[in-house]
Amino acid sequence: MTCSCGKPASILSPVPLCEQCALETALSLLSQCQLSDQSVRALIQSELNIPVKTQEHFSASDIADETGVSAQKIGRISNKYQLKCPDFGEWRLTKATNSNKQIESFFYNAQGRKQIMKLLKDGGYT
Ligand SMILES: [Zn+2]
Repeated sequence: MTCSCGKPASILSPVPLCEQCALETALSLLSQCQLSDQSVRALIQSELNIPVKTQEHFSASDIADETGVSAQKIGRISNKYQLKCPDFGEWRLTKATNSNKQIESFFYNAQGRKQIMKLLKDGGYT
């Protein structure tokens, strides 16, 4: 079976398509659903295992591990100094550790991490 473009088809029905043409067809359909670029990329990644480039990010536990301060403490400092804003990171949906529930967690970017490190140091926590 070959795709209409002449390459070997990786899907056979309803129409034989090679992977590239199938992907292009899917993307053109998706673009009409008004999904955000991010959602489309997430879909592609989940199906095809293509690495998606994202900004470097750190969870509160990452910073906790690094500094020896509890993640709860980092959360409190972050709230107190209002670090959970776009300058310092972004909210992402993650899976809760003990269930399939999706929860929103704040991930810090390099700038946010630096700011927390500074506040911990100034506060005498590290
Ligand atoms: Zn093709």
